[in-house]
Formats: sequence, structure tokens, C-alpha cells
Amino acid sequence: MNATTTAPASAPNSDRVIDTFSPASPYAGMPTYYAASANPTPRRPELLGEERADICVVGAGFTGMGAALELAERGYKVIVVEGERVGWGASGRNGGQLVNGYSRRMLEVRQHYGAEAEKAFGAMALEGQGIIRERVAKYGIACDLRAGNAIMAMSKPQLKTLAERTEEWHRHGHTQMFLAEGAAAREHINSDRYIGGMFDPIGGHMHSLNYVLGEAAAFESLGGRIFEYSRVTHVDRGAEPVVHTAKGKVRANKVLVCGNAYLGDAAPDLSGRVLPVSSQVIATEVLGDDLLETLFPTNYCIEDIRYIPDYYRRTADGRLLYGGGTIYGGFDPASIEGKILPQLHQTFPQLKGVKVDFQWSGNFALTMTRYPQMGRVSDSVYFSQGDSGHGVTTTQMLGRRLAEAIDGQMTKFDVFASLPYIPFVGGKLFRVPYCVVGAWYYGMRDRLGI
Ligand SMILES: Cc1cc2nc3c(=O)[nH]c(=O)nc-3n(C[C@H](O)[C@H](O)[C@H](O)COP(=O)(O)OP(=O)(O)OC[C@H]3O[C@@H](n4cnc5c(N)ncnc54)[C@H](O)[C@@H]3O)c2cc1C
Repeated sequence: MNATTTAPASAPNSDRVIDTFSPASPYAGMPTYYAASANPTPRRPELLGEERADICVVGAGFTGMGAALELAERGYKVIVVEGERVGWGASGRNGGQLVNGYSRRMLEVRQHYGAEAEKAFGAMALEGQGIIRERVAKYGIACDLRAGNAIMAMSKPQLKTLAERTEEWHRHGHTQMFLAEGAAAREHINSDRYIGGMFDPIGGHMHSLNYVLGEAAAFESLGGRIFEYSRVTHVDRGAEPVVHTAKGKVRANKVLVCGNAYLGDAAPDLSGRVLPVSSQVIATEVLGDDLLETLFPTNYCIEDIRYIPDYYRRTADGRLLYGGGTIYGGFDPASIEGKILPQLHQTFPQLKGVKVDFQWSGNFALTMTRYPQMGRVSDSVYFSQGDSGHGVTTTQMLGRRLAEAIDGQMTKFDVFASLPYIPFVGGKLFRVPYCVVGAWYYGMRDRLGI
């Protein structure tokens, strides 16, 4: 699943072909629930020969498509160059959970970078979910968007941490966030595994692939152009940068590099700053709304507070979509179902015996600090990457930051661009074993419920 696929020989260089999808013929060959239920979408041409744009964006995930759409709305002539298909990376195969905030608590932002940084982070913390809701409404994107997410605790120390985090949110103006215990928590998630949780009515969940496909359609409706199956091999970073693929090039005034965990050799100095990490997801057979309503009475999506959490939710067609696990280095486990099903059974013992219809993995980009990396590698080449597994909402906000920076609005961009870059301990050779040791330590704390 993590291997790069190649364009089918029959893929025509025309954006007139509309693909429709089913389990037998999924989007981009991906064995995911999302790919099997993707909305019909045009097959975009491969980049052949030379093109010219104001801005060229590398990568059609949430970060790249979001920035491209924002720039097209601002009147720029934008070309997006994608190595596979729109949403092929983490954006089209994640848990679909809109979790507000960052991979780090606001308290940690203050501890690491001071009160001003905390204030600036706090002011942008809810922006991502707002952008999703705004685009879904503005462009009529059909992506099963639902309100509500929760982070759950299995022990008293974990619940105490969530109580502190709820307070933190209130201090940053998100007063709808609330803590619930026992029966009150069960009104949202009916599992004996938890003693309580932190509930966010303006979080939510959605069909991620259909959202990014909707962004792509909106972008094209504004005159934007997308090339698929066009992997960027390198970017000339001069005053007039050039994006190169095997068969073509794009000359632009500015380039945005948004390849995240899949960027690879196109910009080794950037991909070397992050560690690809895989996470695994399964989708069950259709269980039906009656059963799912007993488990998720309010249709909130759920994540637990552990260092390596389980995350799960209902789908619009009545399945349980359940994810978890991480593998540092971005590899697939021997059996995804074998890894995830035991977790699902712990959460819902009554579901032993349900069939798994889909199983897949995907890579996100982890940074050493767990803060996103954003900046410029030259006057004309910008990048954003490394939202560290917490990207559905964050990437929307960061995509907007990139677009603003192109437009000369640097203040918010600089909040992230000014964060110091800290390399992984152990360098390229030993960073994976170091991360495994770190995860083992935090996993032990999770098992002890602290
Ligand atoms: C299994 C899984 C579950 C997750 N669940 C959640 C969740 O529930 N909630 C949450 O907040 N976050 C979640 N995340 C994280 C979230 O999905 C990511 O942070 C986010 O999608 C990253 O978006 P992106 O656009 O930066 O990267 P991607 O979506 O990976 O997009 C990068 C794109 O760039 C393309 N590309 C790369 N290199 C090149 C190149 N050289 N030339 C051309 N194109 C290139 C890739 O093909 C890809 O399409 C999950 C991640 C995974 C993997």
C-alpha cells in the first residue's frame, strides 16, 4: 500500500474522462473504503512538455490542494503537480477525524516557545475546521461531514490531563469544549473501555478523499490546472524556479512543496527533516445504523489519549472505520487486520466476529518536535510538512498560511516559519530505533494509565 504505483498504460492525457469507483475498481488502485466510495472525478492528464504558471504546487493532498485553492481564489494562475492522483497520500486515506488543535498542547507551546507563541498558536487553533466547513458549504462538497469528536481517557490520571486540556481550551476561547464522565460520557460513546473524555462539538469527521476531490474540483472551477501521475524529480530553486518531472516541467514565479511523507528524492533536504510513519486502518462490513447508534449515540468520532491512540468512527454507509498503530519508517505491518482487530475487540467486545471489508495503511510525516515545519528553502520555494499525524484540520490552516505568504502576508506564516528546526536524534541511520525506544517508553506509560 505504501509502494508507489504507476500510471496505468491506458490512462489518457485528457481531463474529460470521468472515473467512477467501486470495491472492484477503486480510486487509484487503493484498497481503502474511501477509494471504493469516492465520488466520480475526472482523470487528470500527465504533465508533458513545458507549462507556465504564477505558482506551482507539488503534491495534491490537503496542504497542497488547500493552498492551491486559496491562491486560485486570490486570482493566481496555479498548476498542481501530483505524483499519483489527487488525495493519494495521507489525505485520502486517514481516519477522517477533525480534531482541533495541534500535535502538541498549547501549554507545551508556552513551555517551549513562550507566551506570545502560545497566544498566536491559540488564535489559529480552530481555523482549520472552519476552513473545511466554509469550503463544504461554498463549493457544495459531498463528503459526509458530521460534527463532534472526543478524546477518551481509560484511567484517572488520563482524565485529569483531559480536564487540564479542557481548561486550556477555555482559556483560548473554545468554550464549547467540555469534559464528561461515566454515564454522561456514555451518551456519546458506549464502551466500557473509558471512564470519561473531552468532547468537542466543533470537531467532527468526514470522507477525507471526497473532501480533497471536492477541493480539486473547486480549484479547477476557478481555472486551476492539475497534472496527475507526474512525479516531481527535482525543483530548480532560482529566481524563476522550475519544477521537473520525467516528461515535463513547469516554470513559475513561486513553488510550494507539499509532498509531506511521500516527498522522497524530489527535495532530500526537506524529506530528511521528517520521518515517515505509517498508521493502519480497517473498515468493517456494513453493520447498520441501528447497531451503530447504540455504540455512537451522537455520532461523534473517537480517539483515545494514549501516545499511540486508537481512532474510530461511523461511516455514512453504516460501517465502523477503526485505525491505530504506528510503524516508524513508514512500513506496512504483516497483517493490518491482525494488528487493528484486537484493539477494536477491546473497545467493543460485542463486535467479535464482524467481517473486515477494507484494510490499508498510509504515511504521515513526523517531526522531531511534533510541531509542523514551514518555511522557505529559497526566495521562491516555500514548503509545509510534518503535522505529525494530526493534520486533517491543521493542514487546512497551514495551506492558507502558505497562500498568504505568497500574497505577502507573512505574520502568521512566520509564527511557524520561525520555529527552530531540530533534527531527529540519531540522524538518518538511527532515528527509527531512537523513535521506537521513545514510543516503547510512552507505550509503557499508556499501559500503566499515566
Ligand atoms: C492512516 C492515517 C490516518 C490518519 N488519521 C488522521 C485523522 O483522523 N485526523 C487527523 O487530524 N490526521 C490524521 N492523519 C494525518 C493526516 O492525514 C495528514 O497529516 C494530512 O493528510 C497530510 O496532508 P498533506 O497534504 O500534507 O500530505 P499528503 O496527503 O500525504 O499529500 C502529499 C501528496 O504529495 C504527493 N507527492 C509527494 N511527493 C511528490 C512528488 N515528488 N511529486 C509529485 N507529488 C508528490 C503525494 O503523492 C501526495 O498525494 C492520518 C494519517 C494517516 C496516514
